[in-house]
Amino acid sequence: MIEILNPAELARAREAGALVADVLRTLKSRSAVGTNLLEIDRWAEAMIVEAGALSCYVDYEPSFGRGPFGHYICTSVNDAVLHGLPHDYTLADGDLLSLDLAVSVGGFVADSAISFVVGDSRPPESIAMIGATERALSAGIAAAGPGARIGDISHAIGTALHEAGYQINTEFGGHGVGSTMHQDPHISNTGRPGRGYRLRPGLLLALEPWIMADTAELVTDADGWTLRSATGCRTAHSEHTIAITDDGAEILTLPR
Ligand code: MG
Ligand code: MG
Repeated sequence: MIEILNPAELARAREAGALVADVLRTLKSRSAVGTNLLEIDRWAEAMIVEAGALSCYVDYEPSFGRGPFGHYICTSVNDAVLHGLPHDYTLADGDLLSLDLAVSVGGFVADSAISFVVGDSRPPESIAMIGATERALSAGIAAAGPGARIGDISHAIGTALHEAGYQINTEFGGHGVGSTMHQDPHISNTGRPGRGYRLRPGLLLALEPWIMADTAELVTDADGWTLRSATGCRTAHSEHTIAITDDGAEILTLPR
């Protein structure tokens, strides 16, 4: 099912987006050498509860995880790229941390992910990977103009990632957002332009390019959730929720 939001519903999704952006910015600023992933999860919980929002993760039991998830945020470190289950791990200098968060406000969802390096180190490969996902995300958003199709977004993201030299895994990608976190249409991180569902005002999409340094193959961690690169290489992930408007795409999860 593809949902088209009316202006009142979009206003609630905007609130969800502002909260997600604010929580992620705060968590990034607090994530330092010595921070435990379980602390980050508790901080996320406190901010979501204080805002009166609902977590999309705590009770989540999809087919691809060993549910329910039981935590408020995904914390993926180094070779972990998606669905990282918070656990007792203390961040070290140079770790590449991805935080992925979705909340619901007034019945409507926003979903966003950021990747960054912890501490003072600036490992060149990690910085390059984060930049590649951010540029691919920008390219995908720019392609989401009036009259565009889902394939145009996929093509823009895929072209940016390929030009940066990365392989693309097509098992997980972007998705529609609305009254639930994951819904149609699916947005592959590579594809052909001019194909697929035509974008309409009121459509909410989560675009989420993610890459692994030297492989396209994932393995699932023993925790039943965390997806890691099959080779143990580093990974990166960037995500925004956008609303399709008459003028183009409005990013709902930009920090203010
Ligand atoms: Mg997400
Ligand atoms: Mg998502």
